[in-house]
Amino acid sequence: MWNAEAETQPRAAREALQLARLGETLRWARERVAFYRERLGEGDVRSLGDLATLPFTRKTDLREQYPFGLFAVPLPEVARLHASSGTKGKPTVVGYTAGDLEIWREVMARAMVAAGGRRGDLLQIAFGYGLFTGGLGFHDGAERIGMTVVPASSGNTARQGLLLRDLRPAGLAATPSFALHIAETLAEDGTDTGALGLRYGMFGAEPWSDELRRSLERALGCPAFDIYGLSEIIGPGVAGECEARDGLHVADDHFLPEIVDPGTGAVQPPGVQGELVLTTLTKRALPLIRYRTGDVTMLTREACRCGRTSARIARLKGRSDDMLVIKGVNVYPSEIELALLSVDDVLPQYQLVVDRRATLVRLEIQVEPAPGLVERSDGLRPGHPAVAAVRQDVAARLRASLGLGVEVTLVPPRTIPRSEGKAVRVIEQN
Ligand SMILES: [Zn+2]
Repeated sequence: MWNAEAETQPRAAREALQLARLGETLRWARERVAFYRERLGEGDVRSLGDLATLPFTRKTDLREQYPFGLFAVPLPEVARLHASSGTKGKPTVVGYTAGDLEIWREVMARAMVAAGGRRGDLLQIAFGYGLFTGGLGFHDGAERIGMTVVPASSGNTARQGLLLRDLRPAGLAATPSFALHIAETLAEDGTDTGALGLRYGMFGAEPWSDELRRSLERALGCPAFDIYGLSEIIGPGVAGECEARDGLHVADDHFLPEIVDPGTGAVQPPGVQGELVLTTLTKRALPLIRYRTGDVTMLTREACRCGRTSARIARLKGRSDDMLVIKGVNVYPSEIELALLSVDDVLPQYQLVVDRRATLVRLEIQVEPAPGLVERSDGLRPGHPAVAAVRQDVAARLRASLGLGVEVTLVPPRTIPRSEGKAVRVIEQN
């Protein structure tokens, strides 16, 4: 462990520390940020449970206070700015005091050591460097540990492959989709990617499934660890997996997690899925109180077999704004993707058609076949036994994972529109 004293602190002591730091953060925010002075009113928190009485902070608040309206220190005291790409116009600007950067290095070091990072290891960082927090977040954490950093940044797949092959780093840090792309490109060139000598991969910045984890581990020949974060809270390092890989340990002496119902905002008990809400406990430039992350997960405070005592979150299910409610059931596109990845005869290229015109909502999934199936079924001839079998297989898996009956249609190859971003392919018929 990087910081055994903090990471194994008994729960009771941890909660006392959280409560003290929460009180301090509320005072700090009220004194220094007009937005919070108005928003929070006078009320005090006497227990961690009182947190639920405070209002949420949302991405729209950051957007409306653009660029520095939520900062709690004067700009000359801000040591660094980062920004997240705004999907709707302006980016979200975040700031760090020198002390905040120290906290970031600390939590990144914890997450990276939990994933197997050690002093002296060579680490190739293929996250983008710049306003995005990925590259510099990993970079600073790795330097804090005493690793040898290869700041490859994102892009240039061929060069990433060359560096992996020739420098033989112990670890690779990247988005999971980029890491898989690098591995596939190397394999196409005839490189035995299983023999690269990698000991671990650290992946994050987008939700990824356990299926993708297995693909990455096969392709790179090393275990793949999930590291979670978001720039509004600090960047990567908010939470990360240990060797048990049984949820992500939240650095909850710095960030206090809650799970709320995305619709009603009511706090959910441990083990119930909902939207992750985070309160910063130690950050000074940009304290955020009950920040709605939009990420869907669940929480546990049960002991982990690694000995760390922090709360853990489950791997992310997707974004709460992607969630569909169909016949009263919450449906996440990521669950559909997971079910499709388990069927060899279809591609994870799909779109959902939700037809709400009838009394009973009808859910149809249109999915593209794998090339082998097209050949086997005379070009997807309707009524061909192979087509019928695959439709039944996909429908059964979706029923098992979603608890919903879904009509499955196989559509000709390359007919589902491809998108660059994380678009949810849903067509609503109202
Ligand atoms: Zn653990």
